Amino acid sequence: MVPAWNKLSDPLSARLKNRARARRFYLNGPGAVQRYAMFTRISVLVCALLLAGSCKYFGKHWNYEKTDEWEGACAVGRMQSPVDIQRTVRAPLDPLRLDYNEAPLVVKNNGHTLQVDAAGAGGMNVGDTRFQLLQYHLHARSEHTIKGMSADMELHLVHKDSAGNLAVIGVMLKKGAANSLMKAILENAPRDKGEKKATALANPLDLLPADRSYYTYPGSLTTPDCSEGLKWIVLKQPVEISESQIAQFKTFYGNNARPVQALNNRIVLESD
Ligand SMILES: [Zn+2]
Repeated sequence: MVPAWNKLSDPLSARLKNRARARRFYLNGPGAVQRYAMFTRISVLVCALLLAGSCKYFGKHWNYEKTDEWEGACAVGRMQSPVDIQRTVRAPLDPLRLDYNEAPLVVKNNGHTLQVDAAGAGGMNVGDTRFQLLQYHLHARSEHTIKGMSADMELHLVHKDSAGNLAVIGVMLKKGAANSLMKAILENAPRDKGEKKATALANPLDLLPADRSYYTYPGSLTTPDCSEGLKWIVLKQPVEISESQIAQFKTFYGNNARPVQALNNRIVLESD
């Protein structure tokens, strides 16, 4: 005598057998190759969509046409850069002691600017703090403005101290005589994203003014993620580069300047 539960299970096992047969037919029967191809295409599409979504989520895609859509600290930070340097307070600030030296010129086109990687090119001392130069790069027009006036371009020299604090020197670049270091950067800049090593050595001092008096205020990176806690040092004296050098840079990046941000309750100090 067959137990009642076994009778009940018979139609179930038959259904399972049918399903397994159908599955074998689906995987191996006529049209299976086309089905595999379709499955692969759909999988690739879904993966691409997921990747695009995560890139957008992490804010890797940004541009200068839509700076008001930059997220995170860029949108809600209260100590953002650049700023218009309008009212200042004179103070006995530490002199900048720059000791940059010659290093191999490595120019990188990072998709947002031309950047020179400058590890090994020295650094600066501000008071008792030692800052190592990491890289320098260019913006057109200038990002900082002084009493509402922008310069043709701005050079940023990014430094870091041993505790990880960043200090950036901003140098206003204006139309005038050609500059030899700017010439070397432009001649060695790759058109496409990537980097290019020149045979020549370069010294960042060649793009700095003789007068090292400066403005300083606490600010942020001027590109996403716009993280704050940066010491900004904007030199008062501009450096000349030629009109054709400005035009040449603009064939790479014609507009890579973030608009000025609210100063809020920050004070800009000015050295004597
Ligand atoms: Zn910059």
